Amino acid sequence: ETHTLIIGASHAGAQAAVSLRQAGYEGRITLLGEETVPPYHRPPLSKDYLSGNKVESEILLRPAESYAEANIDLRLGVRAGAIDRKAKTVQTIDGDHIAYDHLVLATGARIRHLPIPGADSVHVHYLRDTKDVDAIRARVKPGKRAVIIGGGYIGLETAASLRKRGMDVTLLEAQPRILQRVTSEQMSDFYRRVHTEEGVEIIEDCMASKIAASDDQLTVTTSCGGRYDAHLVVIGIGVIPNTELAEFAGLEIGDGIKVNAYCQTSDPTIYAIGDVSHHYNPLYERHVRLESVPNATEQAKVVAAHIVGTLKPYSALPWFWSDQFDLKLQIAGLSEGFDEILVRGDPDGSRSFAAYYFKGARLLAVDAVNAPRDFMVAKMALSKGKTLDKTKLSGPDADLKSAVV
Ligand code: FAD
Repeated sequence: ETHTLIIGASHAGAQAAVSLRQAGYEGRITLLGEETVPPYHRPPLSKDYLSGNKVESEILLRPAESYAEANIDLRLGVRAGAIDRKAKTVQTIDGDHIAYDHLVLATGARIRHLPIPGADSVHVHYLRDTKDVDAIRARVKPGKRAVIIGGGYIGLETAASLRKRGMDVTLLEAQPRILQRVTSEQMSDFYRRVHTEEGVEIIEDCMASKIAASDDQLTVTTSCGGRYDAHLVVIGIGVIPNTELAEFAGLEIGDGIKVNAYCQTSDPTIYAIGDVSHHYNPLYERHVRLESVPNATEQAKVVAAHIVGTLKPYSALPWFWSDQFDLKLQIAGLSEGFDEILVRGDPDGSRSFAAYYFKGARLLAVDAVNAPRDFMVAKMALSKGKTLDKTKLSGPDADLKSAVV
């Protein structure tokens, strides 16, 4: 009997296990995870789970008992410490040796720490797993101030959720604008305006330089001369892929673990999927590392197929979403390298619009806010390697589908 060992029991790892069974794999499957909660949806952590609309049992990926029912050996609270590629075994930090025929690394990413004095104070939190959010939730207090450090999607979602729960919120962004790393100036302007209208204080081009803790109170000092008293500080400044296991095993590393079109690492019996994988995207003709659920899920399916002998190269279109206040943002494609933006809809009034990113005549990506139809049509076009006719995009009544060329 063959044995597939999967390290990391989150979106990528859990999907790989389930997809293997669905593909008819009859060998043993072990799904090893360091966290103690059964695999759960991570996106709600900064949204419905933080705002208190959902509890742990409501964010599980699948019922906890479904793994045993599918004959998947889910082992939680176990950390893999090293891979011995010659012996084809993995050693856990408890000293167990687990033999494998196929090994899947789905180790994801961990938070990046902020290297300033006081960042390790009590009531200063990061946001990656349920434990983090449980601690933040315990500290939420209406009328008190929360300082968020980092104006990416997670920082902004956290700001929105804490605001919803009645806290005063100040968000500090070190770059000249929020969302600078991930999207256009137009989108940053829109999100800055909405957050400001909703009562979040946004301060850009300004670095937190020190956090002081005294009694039950924190004070954040900034490089631009500000001092903010805070009841709670949440830091969201990005993540680092968990490549160490692969690195020490001598596998090829780029921005993450390097993999081919079937998510195989430089050792063909070892795969890497999800946030930790550095893979080639044929649609954009470059290597990327994506931090998104659809990428983790799709790569898991590619690996499951490959293990049972079906060659299905990974070629999925990157897509992503973010929920803040009443804004449902859906992103399809990668906008990097665009030379023109066309906006359809009404960012100022109804808060419903889509920003289309072009390079010449080629559509690269869309950011759709409360505009699911724009998202769907653009996603479909991009997945097929098509573009949109710019002249047919204007006007609310434009027949979007006929713009696909
Ligand atoms: P991870 O979810 O990082 O899981 C990796 C798992 O491996 C972890 O449980 C870790 O404990 C475990 N592990 C690591 N090393 C070991 C080891 N040595 N031994 C055992 N176990 C190990 N994406 C979206 O598409 N849309 C969103 O709206 C969105 N919102 C998000 C909001 C938040 C707050 C966060 C944190 C992420 C969000 N994401 C969102 C990103 C998305 O959650 C990730 O892309 C996704 O979780 C990646 O799945 P993964 O399985 O590759 O890795």
